[in-house]
Amino acid sequence: MVYYLDNCATTKPLPEAVAACLSAMENHYGNPSSLHGMGLEAERLVRSAQTALAAATLTKPGEWLFTSGATEANNLAILGTAAALHRQGRRIVTTAIEHPSVLEPLWLLESQGWDIVRLKPENGGYTPMQFAEAVDEKTVLCTCMQVNNETGLILPVEEIAAAVKRKNPQTRVHVDGVQGFLRQNIRLSRLPIDLYTVSGHKVCAPKGVGALYRKTGVRLVPQLLGGGQQEGIRSGTESVPLIAAFGAAVTALQGKMAEQTAHLHRLKTETCQLLSEIEGIVLTPSGPTADWVCSFSAPGYRSEVLLHALERKGIYLSSGSACKKGKQSHVLEAMGIDRKTADGTLRVSFCHDTPADAPRVLCEALRQCLATVAHR
Ligand code: PMP
Repeated sequence: MVYYLDNCATTKPLPEAVAACLSAMENHYGNPSSLHGMGLEAERLVRSAQTALAAATLTKPGEWLFTSGATEANNLAILGTAAALHRQGRRIVTTAIEHPSVLEPLWLLESQGWDIVRLKPENGGYTPMQFAEAVDEKTVLCTCMQVNNETGLILPVEEIAAAVKRKNPQTRVHVDGVQGFLRQNIRLSRLPIDLYTVSGHKVCAPKGVGALYRKTGVRLVPQLLGGGQQEGIRSGTESVPLIAAFGAAVTALQGKMAEQTAHLHRLKTETCQLLSEIEGIVLTPSGPTADWVCSFSAPGYRSEVLLHALERKGIYLSSGSACKKGKQSHVLEAMGIDRKTADGTLRVSFCHDTPADAPRVLCEALRQCLATVAHR
């Protein structure tokens, strides 16, 4: 039996998504831009995926653009807004714990003379006030994530967006919703959020497809130039099979949300309880965290060594430190977690299909691993 506890990295596609993908490839392989019937059929699949996203977020189908993933959607939201609004000001407010697909375009803008404000967490989390204080009359964009992918920290994005708009109604608000979408309810049409990023493979659809919500009237300068598809904002033939799978997964997962919420809560509560009973384990984040992510550390152990020891027992998880070339994770560093704790950090993340006995199996295996693998 395999326990896949790495759902923040990616999720297993739902059967509905696999079926929709296959059917689009086998039966509806027209180009959505073609004027004949087969083109219209393919276009209908794209529209129906937009409708699924719109239904899950209370938005309009036409407000959704499809991309190759959340990385592209985040790049488009940030660079597209910067290009559209640079005459109004060249300041952007963000957090120090964003995903690299947000951080990197912001580094690029900074190298071009933009003023980028990266807010640090305060008392383990973020408050709307921090954002409101950082936004000024020159701030054209505020971009922040809904749920952090390494620690599960929840950011109060609805209140942050409201506070930002109260301070400067002209500032655009972008939310990277990748780790929160279809786990937390978000009614975008009722919120002052202008742009919202989602990724297919985090919601039981295939990899290589994402989407960007763009509230009606919000201007973006295209970052891909070509055939003018998707209102000219994202050129390139739409990947109909992946988009159809995405739409099918969104509808199916939305139908499971109520049941999933209770299941995820039980998994998280039990995992935290059992982990707290293991000597030498500390739960890493202190702020409000999502039920589908649990980050913890065995200070003095190397997370990769524990990860592979657990893998040999059929448990798949992630090293929370996400070390790059020996560098500590920027997220754990910003959260004020010391090097030794960061080096021993592991992350488990759950989905609707995680077995109910996963917390017990994980913690039993972890006890055994701690007793056998080398302590530094
Ligand atoms: N943002 C966040 C918060 C993520 O966790 C990820 C994926 N790890 C991305 C963006 C990028 O998503 P994609 O893999 O679809 O490009």
